[in-house]
Amino acid sequence: MNANIAVIGAGIAGVSAARFLQDHGCSVTIIEKSRGYGGRCASKRWLGHIVDHGAQYFTMRDERFRAAAQSASGVKLQQMNTPILNQHGQIMPDHGRWFHRDGNSRLVRDLAQGITVQTEQAITDANSLLKSHGGNFDHIISTAPWPQTAALVGSDTIINYAPCLTALFAYEGDWLGNTSAAYSISDHDGPLAWSACENHKSGRIESGFTVMVAQMSESFSREYLEIPATDIPDLIRSMLEKRWDIPTEKLHAALGHRWRYARIIDTASTPALRNGLHYAGDANGKSRVESSWLDGLRIAENLLANIA
Ligand SMILES: Cc1cc2nc3c(=O)[nH]c(=O)nc-3n(C[C@H](O)[C@H](O)[C@H](O)COP(=O)(O)OP(=O)(O)OC[C@H]3O[C@@H](n4cnc5c(N)ncnc54)[C@H](O)[C@@H]3O)c2cc1C
Repeated sequence: MNANIAVIGAGIAGVSAARFLQDHGCSVTIIEKSRGYGGRCASKRWLGHIVDHGAQYFTMRDERFRAAAQSASGVKLQQMNTPILNQHGQIMPDHGRWFHRDGNSRLVRDLAQGITVQTEQAITDANSLLKSHGGNFDHIISTAPWPQTAALVGSDTIINYAPCLTALFAYEGDWLGNTSAAYSISDHDGPLAWSACENHKSGRIESGFTVMVAQMSESFSREYLEIPATDIPDLIRSMLEKRWDIPTEKLHAALGHRWRYARIIDTASTPALRNGLHYAGDANGKSRVESSWLDGLRIAENLLANIA
């Protein structure tokens, strides 16, 4: 199999597709616009801490995903054992929540071992990468969130995504307020949709600090989507401190982040693309790490079957 394939995006779907195709004899290059791997499975080194500001944890229900993740990351995969509470303080069902000891983006990086990844290269026209249009590749798989993929491939199909304003807060003092009792509080109706204490991910947070992640609801995020990222923490801070009973004077630092395309809100399926263009990622299923990995695999298997 000598097909030359470009995968746009070094997120979990892109790495999954690339891994399968490379393992089956294709020549594969991942092209990523950011400096690092992971996409929305995102982690930050911040003030000496390692914090997940995108996907907070992932499931490993599918045997193929579990085997791939364990083979790539081994003992660095750890299970979250403290509970998530709902807005009424009740413990939510736990079907197995996993995180990577060095930051969830490291799972994606580990899975990409041995694959050529060109970073800091933003593609503006997927067609131009194809041999038929003067490029180097027989096939292109775009894994950018669908609205961005649609622009790259020239599709007018609309699939809506919800944005998510996110903020990180570092407080001086270990396990402040109620943080030792629960990993997270999930409140899909509230403006503070998700808040979590990263200290529960062992080895991530420097001693003497409590580090929190806050992710806002779709309606709140839409309302404030265009404010400067530096202003995001001030909008959220009092809600977070009240929810967790954290003393406000202990705040050490805060950081805001805007996810313009955080998760799909439509159930529409992506259109079949033509002439060597393909899409893989969460728009074909659910906005979950595991689902995106599975979709990358599915699209790669289909492509291989068609070119074999
Ligand atoms: C705030 C937040 C919280 C979440 N929480 C969870 C959770 O707890 N558990 C869970 O399972 N899932 C969670 N998710 C969802 C999960 O992170 C995503 O569904 C999954 O990571 C999507 O992977 P992907 O590979 O499909 O897309 P992405 O991760 O978006 O990857 C696409 C990649 O394409 C790159 N790209 C885009 N445009 C271009 C271009 N023009 N040229 C080159 N590269 C480009 C991007 O930089 C990115 O790296 C969360 C998502 C967000 C945003």
